[in-house]
Amino acid sequence: MGLRKSIVLQATAGGTSCTTPTAKWFIANSFVLITHAVFAKSVVSVFAMDHQKCETCGKPKAQLQCGLCQAAICKACAQFLEPEAFAFLPKRPEALSFDTYCGPCFDANVTPGLLSYQQSLEQAKNVEVFNKSQSKETRLIKRIAAPVQVQNCPDHDEAVLRLAFLAIEAGYNGIVDLELKSQKHKNGSYQTTTWSGTATPAQVRENSLIKDRSFWQNPN
Ligand SMILES: [Zn+2]
Ligand SMILES: [Zn+2]
Repeated sequence: MGLRKSIVLQATAGGTSCTTPTAKWFIANSFVLITHAVFAKSVVSVFAMDHQKCETCGKPKAQLQCGLCQAAICKACAQFLEPEAFAFLPKRPEALSFDTYCGPCFDANVTPGLLSYQQSLEQAKNVEVFNKSQSKETRLIKRIAAPVQVQNCPDHDEAVLRLAFLAIEAGYNGIVDLELKSQKHKNGSYQTTTWSGTATPAQVRENSLIKDRSFWQNPN
């Protein structure tokens, strides 16, 4: 009874407390075994890539892999996403964050993603923009959304467009209280300027704008 109990206890106590010779050999050689396993796996995967069939066209030498579904694909069938795509999105959704796709994954995710991104960008170009200095004109517009910000844009217009894009993404048609600051950077004999700023996304309606300029001078 005593012996049997001690064997059961040792067996259930977990790997390193096992004392059988076989277990000892595995523990002593585990590093070597793991190293061999990793090496074997990498050899297999290189070998497999060269001889694997493309899951789209069926031809051998599928040397690429879809980032999303991991399907093996050949160069001819792979679809590539430029790193500059979705540049105005503060964070790409995971499904849009790879550089190589198989056709079905590209069609199901990237194509609609690019389409809606382009639509948002077009809408952003038509966003109503009001500076902080126009606060009298926009004083009836509700400030509900959290302010958005951009940093280190290469020019003034891109900074405004990026803020407008963030407003569209948040479901608004305008930005108010826009404040932009430029900063000069010296790089040897070159000097560049970058733009950073904030704005508040807002729903701008014609009837919520105060356009009577005489009202500005004499609010009463
Ligand atoms: Zn192919
Ligand atoms: Zn895929």
